[in-house]
Amino acid sequence: MTLTGYWYAPESAARQTAVLQLQGEHFALMDNNDAPLVSGATAALQFSQRVGNIPRKITLADGSVFETADNATVDTWLAASTHRAAGVTWMHTVESHWRWIGLALLTSVILLVVTTVWGLPWASKAVAYRLPVKANQALAEGTLQALDSVALEPSKLPKERQQAIREHVQQVLLPLNAEGFTYTVHFRKMGDMANAFALPSGDIIVTDRLAEVVTKPEEFDSILLHEIGHVVNRHGMRQVIQSSAVTLGLVMIGGDASALQDWTAALPGVLLQSQYSRDFETEADRYAFERMMALQIDPAHFGRALQRITADAVKDSPLSKKDAARAETLLKYLSSHPPSAERAALSKQYSQRFQAQHPKE
Ligand SMILES: [Zn+2]
Repeated sequence: MTLTGYWYAPESAARQTAVLQLQGEHFALMDNNDAPLVSGATAALQFSQRVGNIPRKITLADGSVFETADNATVDTWLAASTHRAAGVTWMHTVESHWRWIGLALLTSVILLVVTTVWGLPWASKAVAYRLPVKANQALAEGTLQALDSVALEPSKLPKERQQAIREHVQQVLLPLNAEGFTYTVHFRKMGDMANAFALPSGDIIVTDRLAEVVTKPEEFDSILLHEIGHVVNRHGMRQVIQSSAVTLGLVMIGGDASALQDWTAALPGVLLQSQYSRDFETEADRYAFERMMALQIDPAHFGRALQRITADAVKDSPLSKKDAARAETLLKYLSSHPPSAERAALSKQYSQRFQAQHPKE
C-alpha cells in the first residue's frame, strides 16, 4: 500500500514530499525520485489517532515524521494489519465521537445556565423597557379585582388618613418622570397582615395593618418608595417575561403545552406574596434608598420599617414567638428572598452615606 505525503527529517522543520510504502511487516520511505530514505519494520511505526480529516502523522523509529492526508488508506491498511494501532482505530473513532458529544452536551448545559441566569434577565429587561406603559397596565388589568375576591377586604382606615397619604404620594413621592404610569394608592384589609405591593400598572396596595404598624411618616414613605421602585423598574413585566420564557423553554424541551396555560394566571399570586426575585427586591430597595437621599430622608428608616413589620408578624403568631427567624417566613413581605437583615444592612450603608452628607450640628 502506497501513501503520499511529506517527510520531516529528524530534528528538522524542513519537509520534503515523500512516498511511504507499507508491505506486510516492512515499510520503505522514498523521496520523489524513488531514492530510499528510511526503511524498517512497520511494528516500529507510530500512527497518530484520526481526528476528522486532519493529516495523519506516522512517527518513525528515528524520530522523523511522515505526514499524509490519505487517512482512508491508513485506516484500510491498519484494519488489515496486525499492527498494535489496528484494533484501536474504530475504538478511537467512537471515543472521539463521544468526546465531541460530551463536549456538545457540556456546552449546551453551560449555555442554558448562562442564558437562564444572566441572558434571560437581561433580555426580559430589554423587552420590558421596549414595551409601552400600556402593556404594563394591560398586564395588571383585573389583578386587583381578582385579589379583592380572594384575599382582600375593604379598608377600615379613616378616609382622612387615606386621603393624606394619597396626596403625599402625588406631591412628594412620585418620580419626577412618571413615564406615563398612573400611580394610585389603594387601601385594603388583608386579615391582620402588614403588607404592601405594587401592580405593574402603578397601582399600589397598602394594607390597613401596615398603616397601623408603620406610623412614622419617613418609614411609611420608605415602604411606598420601595413599591414605586418595583413599578419604575418594571418588575411585574420582567417577572412575567422571564417565567414565560422559562415555561416556553420547558415546553420546547418536554413538549407539554399545558404548562403554558399556568403562567398567565400566576401574576396575582406572585404579587400577593411579594415573591419577586432577590435581585428585584434589592433593585427596589436601592431605588427607595436613592429617592430617600434625594428627598432628604435618612435611608435607615427603611430598616426600621422592616423591623416593625417583622415584629408585628411575630407578635401574631404564638408559635413563632420563640423563634423569630422562623417566624419571618410567615411574613411574605419580608421573606422574599433577601433576608430582612441583609436589607436592613444595605439601608444602613446608605444611611451612612446620608449621614456623611448631612452631619448633625
Ligand atoms: Zn418588594
